[in-house]
Amino acid sequence: MTALPAAVRIREVGPRDGFQNEPETIPTEDKIRLIDGLMRTGLRRIEVTSFVRPDVIPQLSDADQVLRGIDIPEDVEVSVLIPNARGLERALLLRDRFDDIGVFLSASDTHNRKNVNRSTDESLAGLEQVIATANAAGLHVEAVIATSFGCPYEGEVALDRVLEIAQRLAAAGAPEIAFGDTTGMANPLQVRDVFTRAREALPGVELTAHFHNTRGQGLANVLAALEAGCESFESSFGELGGCPVPAGATGNIATEDLVSMLHEMGVQTGVDLDQLLECARDVREVLGRPLGSHTLVAGPIDWQRG
Ligand code: ZN
Repeated sequence: MTALPAAVRIREVGPRDGFQNEPETIPTEDKIRLIDGLMRTGLRRIEVTSFVRPDVIPQLSDADQVLRGIDIPEDVEVSVLIPNARGLERALLLRDRFDDIGVFLSASDTHNRKNVNRSTDESLAGLEQVIATANAAGLHVEAVIATSFGCPYEGEVALDRVLEIAQRLAAAGAPEIAFGDTTGMANPLQVRDVFTRAREALPGVELTAHFHNTRGQGLANVLAALEAGCESFESSFGELGGCPVPAGATGNIATEDLVSMLHEMGVQTGVDLDQLLECARDVREVLGRPLGSHTLVAGPIDWQRG
């Protein structure tokens, strides 16, 4: 049994990954209240919105208002997802409201074309420019490689290809690389292999795991990543989220489930689980439907009760 890290970092992505995948648009004031709540749970990193084209993703067309409206504590790093140079230009008008940007592409050409209408190589070239601009503006850059563990259209994605893309993004100035299991195809043995190889290939780079629970394997994949030395995770309160393509690519792992499991294993997160569950109940009420999160349904484990 490999020793687990004493503590890990969690970036909450529900306000972006989650809200963009809801069929209806959540009112801006609800988003602001939910994000303000999340920022007071002990979560130190939160992705709050995305500067995508409002006609493409109307659910996030209020990016500016959300960024302006939230009340950001000193110790919270706010990040925004940036699809391209135009999106970064818009975000930079509010430069004092965030610390990090996330940029993304898919390791498989077909998924990348369906998602952003470009080849992976074309995306890479564009992102190198975006990363340079972001670095010049003093922003921390996280580069997310979607379909790192498999593509719903192409099947297997060669790990050599994923690592090559990661190395190019790191060389372009991204100190953090996230490996996305965008449509829930990863299994724990594969995850162990990917993070072991990634640590060798990307010394000094922060490696982040972004797992979806599409087929119920999200937390098993977290344990495999932990055992391979990964100390940074992304998750979504309520198990919100998904991917625009293909349909049915549901939920990120739930932040409550992640925090509960990590705390039970003695891995610290800095998050107050009860406060986080308050936020998850709040978003369940706003959406008016049951959510995928298990801990939200069962409640936290109470060892005192017996
Ligand atoms: Zn996701």
